[in-house]
Amino acid sequence: IEAPTVRENPRSDAPGVGSPDSSVKVVVRIRPVSGHGKTEDHIVKKVSSDSLSVGDRKFTFTSVLGPESSQEDVFNLIGVPLVQSSLAGYNASIVSYGQTGTGKTFTMWGPQSAMVDAHSISSYQGIVPRIFQMLFAEISKKQKCLEENNISYQCRCSFLEIYNEQIIDLLNPSQRNLQIHDDAKSGFYVENLTDEYVNNIDDVTQILITGLSNRKVGATSVHSKSSRSHIIFTCTLESWCKGTQSKNFSSSKMSKISLVDLAGLDKHKPDGVGERTEDGRDVKQSLAKLGKLINILSGVARAGEDQKIPYMDSPLTHLLKDTLGGNAKATYLCSISPDKRDKAGTLSTLRFGELAKEIQNKAVINEI
Ligand code: ADP
Repeated sequence: IEAPTVRENPRSDAPGVGSPDSSVKVVVRIRPVSGHGKTEDHIVKKVSSDSLSVGDRKFTFTSVLGPESSQEDVFNLIGVPLVQSSLAGYNASIVSYGQTGTGKTFTMWGPQSAMVDAHSISSYQGIVPRIFQMLFAEISKKQKCLEENNISYQCRCSFLEIYNEQIIDLLNPSQRNLQIHDDAKSGFYVENLTDEYVNNIDDVTQILITGLSNRKVGATSVHSKSSRSHIIFTCTLESWCKGTQSKNFSSSKMSKISLVDLAGLDKHKPDGVGERTEDGRDVKQSLAKLGKLINILSGVARAGEDQKIPYMDSPLTHLLKDTLGGNAKATYLCSISPDKRDKAGTLSTLRFGELAKEIQNKAVINEI
């Protein structure tokens, strides 16, 4: 995002902000050196489990994962609590943010080859397939040991892309320009978006592979294939639990897992020239709107006259309503490069993380 002006500790009085049990966490992952990178060109250093330095500036977040961190480390830190929250009935989300080439795709999805065999865990497998392996394993465990309580689950998945401010169904790409329907009672949903029932990890893997292969990619200065759109994978989990004659009760819960991979900005050009391509400019504008909202939620900026938070400013901010100051347990996952040449992008990403840290969500269990 365009670097917002950061106030020192905007809400330092707020209890628990950014603490491990707060509803909002900010985790930074530093990617390893690429093949041609030289160690002396590295200006980012992990200082402790929750801090890092860029030159002589120090930043603190909920957690910092260094270049040596594995996909499993990321999953244990973020994925396991997400699955546990979702089974308990909370909405839970991960928002992956960072400059192009810093490892957002690698961390979230992993290479497609590692996704295909859904039953074995390859060390490269991303956090999303791992989340669903754990989710279905937990569901099957719960169903076995709580049989007498008649617990049943139903799971639906959708996958969408926001490209040039249009919502596209990644499971049926001929469905473009989908509209968001929002009302105070039933919340918001995307009209006509495919929402498929899934029963096991194979069903989810199939959806992930289809959706990711339909994602828009474009040529940039860093990689020949770089994501030029935001994508959101959503899984809605409903559970019903009926008691036995001796324990007479019933309850039902619904939770939503939202996994968001934001488009990356191109490398900042040293000459200050901005994005050259049309979709690059669109990505910039879209992330700027997200930045504006985060500025307001973090208390750095004020909302408009009527004090309404401008969620409707863009499809992205609208669809992230639960995550941004809403009822979800949210993790902002910021990916950065250690390289000196990426300093501007790294600082911009860390500023985003500093602001996200101040957002306060009110996570609640969704009984239905
Ligand atoms: P982005 O999605 O942010 O544009 P990618 O996920 O495509 O970036 O990562 C760029 C390159 O770096 C890819 O070749 C990827 O495999 C590699 N990479 C990124 N993070 C790691 C990591 N933690 N370990 C090993 N390789 C990584």
